[in-house]
Amino acid sequence: MLDFCIIGSGISGSTIAHYLKKKYSINVHDKARGVGGRSSFKRYKGKIGFDHGLQYLSPRSKEFKSFTNKLIKKKVLKHWRGNHEFLNRKVKRDKKHIKLIGVKGNNDISKFLLKNINCNFQSELSEIKRQKDCWYLRFKDNKHIYSKNLILSIPFPQAKKLSSKFVKTKLFKNKVIMNSSLTVLLMTNKTGNKSSSFFTNDKVLGWVSNENSKKRFNYNKDLWVLQSTFEYGKKHTDSYRDKKKFYTNVLINKFKKLTKIKIRKTYFTHIHGWKYSSNSTPLKTQSYWDKTIGLGICGDWFGGPRLENGWLSAKDLYNKIK
Ligand SMILES: Cc1cc2nc3c(=O)[nH]c(=O)nc-3n(C[C@H](O)[C@H](O)[C@H](O)COP(=O)(O)OP(=O)(O)OC[C@H]3O[C@@H](n4cnc5c(N)ncnc54)[C@H](O)[C@@H]3O)c2cc1C
Repeated sequence: MLDFCIIGSGISGSTIAHYLKKKYSINVHDKARGVGGRSSFKRYKGKIGFDHGLQYLSPRSKEFKSFTNKLIKKKVLKHWRGNHEFLNRKVKRDKKHIKLIGVKGNNDISKFLLKNINCNFQSELSEIKRQKDCWYLRFKDNKHIYSKNLILSIPFPQAKKLSSKFVKTKLFKNKVIMNSSLTVLLMTNKTGNKSSSFFTNDKVLGWVSNENSKKRFNYNKDLWVLQSTFEYGKKHTDSYRDKKKFYTNVLINKFKKLTKIKIRKTYFTHIHGWKYSSNSTPLKTQSYWDKTIGLGICGDWFGGPRLENGWLSAKDLYNKIK
């Protein structure tokens, strides 16, 4: 029987998997088609693609800085330089924050951490039961497995739904409100624009990234990621599926208006709603571990809405298990 079954292949799941595999038999299940969770990379063709969720890392803690420095040396991460601009703000350039990105895509860290680990994609956990000394785990496709221990590295509402009856502390009594947002991936003619990103104080469009400026590929078209504000996402993420074209155009038109970039032709668009984009209030604990039943929970939501907090949460959980 497996020692640990880990649910989620985002930064939290891949970090805990990386450490546990040194000593235990493990496997990872994710409901998505590939690695990375909210740090996924949407491939268009070959190396060309878009960072779908997370845009960049700005390490703050000593521990995470040292981890990311190692990944820079291993050519998993690199700096994203260039003009990061503020639109409609007094500050015009963002020079302050270091911006790190994956060399090929922002799911590179998870890919690196999950090397040689058995990962099962399109595998959504739908029910958990405690049976004698182990977990019975049933997946949406009706497959089931048994595991001695279970780690959930999934957003708060999903973790609560699956495991609240097994959690003895007040963890799920916390009010963790997760913001929603909409993302549009856009491919246009070459515009000649030299900015790497735009941060706005608009009510609809919050952030634009110029994917070509990440220097992962040379392409004869421009690739953009447009992210809505949380305010706009809150109102429209539940309903965008019925009017995808409409919401795509709202964000594209805002982009054109705010940046004044001349777009002659659009070659590709894709819209995605992030229901559980991020939470803003950190909890008092960094992870949850109950060794009597072998249940662990980690995720960025313990610490706040950044990838670094997912990594710190998983490390904290590993230290508890150890
Ligand atoms: C649009 C957007 C922009 C962002 N920008 C930044 C940024 O610039 N900088 C930054 O630091 N952070 C950013 N973030 C936040 C960052 O992406 C997250 O903090 C981080 O990716 C969270 O990692 P995680 O492993 O905790 O969770 P996730 O990445 O959400 O991983 C959870 C995984 O669990 C899977 N899963 C869920 N339920 C089940 C189930 N029942 N069965 C199987 N699998 C399941 C999901 O498919 C997912 O892959 C952004 C997030 C979004 C959405």
